[in-house]
Amino acid sequence: MFSAEIKNFINTSNYPTFSPKAIFFDMDGVLFDSMKTHAYAWVEALKSFGLPFTEYEAYMNEGRTGSSTIDGVFNKVHGRNATEDEKQSIYRAKSKLFEASKQSKRIPHSLELLRKNQSQNLNIFVVTGSGQPTLLASLDEHFPDTFEKEKMVTAFDVSIGKPNPEPYLMALKKSGLQAWEVVVIENAPLGVESASKAGLFTIAVNTGPLEPKVLWESGANLVFDGMTELYNHWDKFSEVANINS
Ligand code: CA
Repeated sequence: MFSAEIKNFINTSNYPTFSPKAIFFDMDGVLFDSMKTHAYAWVEALKSFGLPFTEYEAYMNEGRTGSSTIDGVFNKVHGRNATEDEKQSIYRAKSKLFEASKQSKRIPHSLELLRKNQSQNLNIFVVTGSGQPTLLASLDEHFPDTFEKEKMVTAFDVSIGKPNPEPYLMALKKSGLQAWEVVVIENAPLGVESASKAGLFTIAVNTGPLEPKVLWESGANLVFDGMTELYNHWDKFSEVANINS
């Protein structure tokens, strides 16, 4: 189990080896069980501006920056990008709806996986398209002693965002590691695409309503049916991937 996928990753990418020293975690849908609320907030906020958008579309667009999501809808409806003012009004409405109904529950076994990664001396990074001002505070609240400001890439750092490889390449640069020394954990098709295009080994955890097929098609090296399944296989994966245990 896993050795075929790892061998395939090394060969396809033409890397000398695969020897993970850091894990890059996406945030929403991987650490926080927040995607349902995000999807709801997007649908309602866009509706209030006369823009049709479904929850399924929210999941398919997950990982994009707010700005890029709004441009996508505008182009479909009005055939143009949104203005900065329009973007700010819509994003403010969306954030307000999200804050009002958020519960910020942890995804089951996300904390346990992080603790295991820490015990393996793996470096932990967060790479998210989210631009919530209280991001680090809510991470600290739910995952104490885990994340550091210097080891984060958020919507404030990037100019393009997922599915462009930019955020993951930025995290790679911050880490000072080689591409074959990193594992990415993502839940969204566009996030998987971003990480995979950055040349990183990408594990998809399917925590939402999408078919696993779309995660494979986006370039995932492994797909698990949620975080608990990944956690249950982590020791085996570590053994095959030569991660310290
Ligand atoms: Ca996500």
